[in-house]
Amino acid sequence: MARGYGLVRKPSIFKKLETVVGKGYVISHPDDLLVFEYDGSIDKAVPQAVVFPVSMEEVRRVVAVAQEFDVAVVGRGSGTGLSGGAIASAGGLQVALTRMNRILEMDVENRLAVVEPGVINLQLDEAARKHGLRYAPDPSSQRACSIGGNVAENAGGPHCLAYGVTSNHVLGLEVALEDGSVTWLGGRTRETVGYDLRGVFVGSEGTFGIATKAVVRLLAAPPSIKTYMAVFRDIESACEAVSSVIGKGMVPAAMEMIDALTIKAVQNLHDMGLPKDAGCVLLVEVEGLREEVEEMGGEVEGVLRKSGSREVRWAESAAERERLWRARKGALGALGSLAPNYYLVDGVAPRTKLASVLRQVSEISERYKTPIANVFHAGDGNLHPCILFDEREAGSVERVIEVGGEILKVCVEAGGSLSGEHGIGLEKKAYMPLVFSEEDMSVMRLVREGFSPSGRFNPGKIFPGGPMDGDDIDVRAMQKRAVSVAGPGAHV
Ligand SMILES: Cc1cc2nc3c(=O)[nH]c(=O)nc-3n(C[C@H](O)[C@H](O)[C@H](O)COP(=O)(O)OP(=O)(O)OC[C@H]3O[C@@H](n4cnc5c(N)ncnc54)[C@H](O)[C@@H]3O)c2cc1C
Repeated sequence: MARGYGLVRKPSIFKKLETVVGKGYVISHPDDLLVFEYDGSIDKAVPQAVVFPVSMEEVRRVVAVAQEFDVAVVGRGSGTGLSGGAIASAGGLQVALTRMNRILEMDVENRLAVVEPGVINLQLDEAARKHGLRYAPDPSSQRACSIGGNVAENAGGPHCLAYGVTSNHVLGLEVALEDGSVTWLGGRTRETVGYDLRGVFVGSEGTFGIATKAVVRLLAAPPSIKTYMAVFRDIESACEAVSSVIGKGMVPAAMEMIDALTIKAVQNLHDMGLPKDAGCVLLVEVEGLREEVEEMGGEVEGVLRKSGSREVRWAESAAERERLWRARKGALGALGSLAPNYYLVDGVAPRTKLASVLRQVSEISERYKTPIANVFHAGDGNLHPCILFDEREAGSVERVIEVGGEILKVCVEAGGSLSGEHGIGLEKKAYMPLVFSEEDMSVMRLVREGFSPSGRFNPGKIFPGGPMDGDDIDVRAMQKRAVSVAGPGAHV
């Protein structure tokens, strides 16, 4: 039987929460809550309260209060997620982890760090760089996103082609469970015995519990780096070049694709050195010892040229390299120069099928008369078609969701999958049956029940309906009604 959670009906819950985190760290006024109705996706729902704990002990006690009052709990890092994961679609509490932002330990000898979940990805990397180390997973949102959110989504990033996504870099996790208990999954070494529960938690999208600490691996920062920009006449030839490089046994640190529409968006804002007349640009980075970089760089360059690149150049200075990466990592934000909104689809296609999948994406774009920009981690076969639209136009949101669904089906038909790195969340749960049978999903639900028997952590995410998924409640309508009954100053 499907069960609903969540409506914070009793005012006494606010008092209890305030005794745990202190006055001022529980917000429940509708005006204040509006800021928390979003993440980076297009779904929206206003939570009923947001709580800001500052320690594991406070998280543990907040979760226990949620259990006592039988309300849903949604963890929230920086709210940059692109699948609606941090949206409180079933009402209840959002637990915002922004105050838990300390790097607790930098163990240089053992090349690891112990961090709180609200630490920002780039801050961790910058702290590691001071010791000649690095934190490798680097989502394009790394200036904003949190390590807790990265763990929950198993985030990727440009340099994950060579080094693997977040799950490869998390050694241990301290986790608050629904009964208010706290447990460690994994530890400080890569080798552990028994079930790999750390591995299961990474990518669980906030449905198992709240991560309150993470032990992460740090890698040696590379002594030498060379960043190439290869210019192609179209995206298809660039995709073929990616396959050729990897087919020859070379794995550069990163291979990132920026199509013509995205180049236009970036250059509209600032001159970032991208050629305006290019059909597509491929950024390729090789790193390692100086001799290795020169050798592999030369080989990569040769393959790019043979694959039809009209021009291959490389950054001559650190500043130039930084500018190229700023262009890539700021590309999604730059799309705002083309349209008020974009809906980013996160699909995966086998690398060798990228060209044909992108051809179909372009056909879908023409069929729906909707522009689609592409900027993505090509080396991983991770594609991110960004459907441009204006949400003020009637029916536009429904249209882009339909377009997104068609693109995901194309990915799955090509032998790919529903998400490369942003998770399923709210956005893609309807498509789960495209890749998983009922039996597959019931095994996943069993794992979820093992961690959270009540299913109160992030209900309504990942699974398309059924027990433990929570009812999607029209929280905003309920709040409007409550305010109209209790008066405009009321807390609901
Ligand atoms: C411009 C832009 C570029 C992006 N580029 C990339 C990219 O290159 N690669 C990539 O992988 N993603 C990318 N993303 C998506 C997003 O940044 C990542 O998914 C990121 O990991 C989300 O982190 P967050 O802190 O914002 O999490 P949120 O959005 O706040 O939450 C995401 C999920 O994590 C859960 N959660 C958060 N903290 C915890 C915790 N402590 N314990 C348990 N669950 C928790 C939430 O409940 C939710 O389900 C991009 C987003 C934007 C806007």
